[in-house]
Amino acid sequence: MGGSLAVRILIGFVAGICVGLAFKSLGWQPPIELSGLLGDLFLRALRMVVIPLIFSSLALSVAQLSDIARLSRLSCWTVVYYLVTNAIAVMIGLALVNVIQPGSGLPIGDGKPPQLPPLQLKTLVLNIIPANPIEALAKGEMLALIFLSLLTGAALLSAKDVGEPIQRLLNSVLQVTMVVVHWLLSVAPVGVFGLAVRLAAEFGLAVFLPLTKYAFTVILGLAIHGLFALPVLALLFARVHPFGYLRHFMPALLTAFSTSSSSATLPVTLECAERAGVHSEVRNFVLPLGTTINMDGTALYEAVAACFVAQVYGIHLSFTQQLLIFITANLAAIGAAGIPAGGLVTMPFVFQSVGLPLKGIALILPIDRFLDMFRTTINVLGDIIGCSVVQRAMNFEKQSSVEAPLGA
Ligand code: ASP
Repeated sequence: MGGSLAVRILIGFVAGICVGLAFKSLGWQPPIELSGLLGDLFLRALRMVVIPLIFSSLALSVAQLSDIARLSRLSCWTVVYYLVTNAIAVMIGLALVNVIQPGSGLPIGDGKPPQLPPLQLKTLVLNIIPANPIEALAKGEMLALIFLSLLTGAALLSAKDVGEPIQRLLNSVLQVTMVVVHWLLSVAPVGVFGLAVRLAAEFGLAVFLPLTKYAFTVILGLAIHGLFALPVLALLFARVHPFGYLRHFMPALLTAFSTSSSSATLPVTLECAERAGVHSEVRNFVLPLGTTINMDGTALYEAVAACFVAQVYGIHLSFTQQLLIFITANLAAIGAAGIPAGGLVTMPFVFQSVGLPLKGIALILPIDRFLDMFRTTINVLGDIIGCSVVQRAMNFEKQSSVEAPLGA
């Protein structure tokens, strides 16, 4: 089904782009809006299942580990993988933006300054532990959700038999939510079609022309990370054939591309991981956690955007300032929500760290939504490769061997 679903989603996307361009040239606004509504319904339905999915899968994956030592190993490997890949992504971005210099010589745009609230690191950290868990969940605060899920899982692991009924309940929540995910997947091509129609109708060449070099830098960086760095990691550390393994995840990658939301893509990614034979303890831990805190594409994007704006304003960034961008871009990606334009919200944090003018963010707004498709795909790809690396590091056996490890 992985293959045929991917093909259907791809057909939905391509058809949506063609139909959107046709509607745009004919000036037919109502069908464009109707298609957009269809796409939004699909996106909302996916996001609707994310909270129960993250909570049940993450808490269960921790609760079902045999002991705390195993939990420490699993979290260590996962966090090390996240940090290393995020760092690689930002380094690629910084190297390219310094070599290509996409912002040099560009006239300063007169776009209106965006209304983005400056992000406080202190608030971000404080919000991880919610004073009112129900309020935090209702507001969709993902870091708080992750914390609650991990805490519940660890408490269940310690409580042993006493926690058994809660574990059974969580298990059934997970199974039932996955049934809904199956249903949603069957209408995914239609939802993707709707999103693509609106996307094609919204973008014009005029928006791209002044920012072509910038877009090229971001996309090239993402391509190097996604097509080279991550596959090499998979080959070296997971010992899987990266592209054979990724074949199972095409529906997830296409959903990420068309929805620009790694959270909304999570249900699809989990489903693909199950089909690819990723062990349940690994996929239920690495994917929900990664959806929220492992965003290679966003980290790369934020670093490139900050340097681009500095170049446009003729601000020279010293090595130390670029180091600060490196650190804050990594943190900003961890704090970003897996929703469309989630990275934009945390971008002021990176800008402020080196004193860049916040109004510079207006320069990159016109094509942010377009680049979001690419960086979200890389965000999801990072989590997918993470599953294979952590699975290997933990010596977990595959649950249904689809791709044989190299040399096995
Ligand atoms: N849209 C991205 C995601 O969902 C976040 C971002 O805006 O960079 O992963």
